[in-house]
Amino acid sequence: MTLEAGLARAIHSEVRAPRVRYDLSHACRNGRASRSSTACDASGSRWSEAPENKSAGDSKGGSKWRLVSKTQGKKASLSFGGEGSSFFTFRATHELSSSGSAMDEDSVRKILDTRKESFVLCPEEVEVLMAKGGFETKEDLLLELVKNTAHLSLPPISNFHVSCAALGSSGRVYIGVNIEFRELPLPSALHAEQFLVMNAFQHQEEALEILYISHVPCGHCRQFMCELHRSEHMTILINGIEGERFTLPQLLPLRFTPRDLIGDEARFLFQPRDNELRLPKEVEESLREGGETLEAAMAERALKEANASYAPYSNCPSGLCLSDASGNLYGGCLVESAAYNPTVSPLHSALVNGLVNGLGGWEAITQVTLVEAKDAAVKHEHVIRECLKFICPGAKYTVLPAEGK
Ligand SMILES: [Zn+2]
Repeated sequence: MTLEAGLARAIHSEVRAPRVRYDLSHACRNGRASRSSTACDASGSRWSEAPENKSAGDSKGGSKWRLVSKTQGKKASLSFGGEGSSFFTFRATHELSSSGSAMDEDSVRKILDTRKESFVLCPEEVEVLMAKGGFETKEDLLLELVKNTAHLSLPPISNFHVSCAALGSSGRVYIGVNIEFRELPLPSALHAEQFLVMNAFQHQEEALEILYISHVPCGHCRQFMCELHRSEHMTILINGIEGERFTLPQLLPLRFTPRDLIGDEARFLFQPRDNELRLPKEVEESLREGGETLEAAMAERALKEANASYAPYSNCPSGLCLSDASGNLYGGCLVESAAYNPTVSPLHSALVNGLVNGLGGWEAITQVTLVEAKDAAVKHEHVIRECLKFICPGAKYTVLPAEGK
């Protein structure tokens, strides 16, 4: 959604319109990029997008698109990168050549140049979108986001695109989409609501206040959301059923919750925890001897994830770190469900973190490090090893045992 924010700001800076409405759709699938966008500002000027380079279908290395005002002849350039994957990372370069003094252009450029996430909006961006997008309520904004982010999902099996957007108590907005994996069984799929929850969890969110979903949530997701701190207070809205608000107790009456397994002392997801795992001395020493290596950094990150892991049912916390060829790290941890099966593995969690932070496709993963307890009754090592053969077959896989403090 940074795209929409960037466009809204670009247009706003150019025409200094008080309110900008936009309507965008774009896709970049399997190396083929296609986009279409139209926008209309408050003055009635219409904007459209056109590819700037000759081979618009070639997303490798990024396609350039130009936003042109049909009525005023002004333009803004935006770059998109795809690298042959079925999703793209948005990085906008704000290159307005306005003759007028563009509104706070420096701050716009700063935000667009430094942000990598297209799955998270910070509170300031939410406010900008609210003010300039003409939305009357946060629910209107969330619905708009839901309608404009389905293209980010990766469902090669079902081709059924689900997206959702939620407002956290921090003021941030999170996006979630569904992910499926070719050649792996259906339970390996990650639902959009689970993606969103992992995204929010990785941003240390405390609670979700409003959740807007593109489709009626399945039972699996209703069950998974029972793990959330203050989940019973979350307002749930569904595209196509506008005007109706639901709560989780309404959508899932007589539900099975963490309290059923753990009792009243149950601590929920989003509440801080430290599992107090550490690496055995000999592992720590051997990593330290190598100096500041990628392996050491990945081990440290995977351990940190394991310590943040939500594993109240198995008591077998687990954390994972992915890296790409540039040495960027993406981490994720195990998040369990009281009903067991909706559990999100540390691999799925880290893949979400990768997508949110600009990992250039599964094939970009070069190394994977898993940390889990040495004598755990529940281990992810073997299942993850099999999944990696299909998700990123060339990646080096390291498993490090952890022990309690
Ligand atoms: Zn679901």
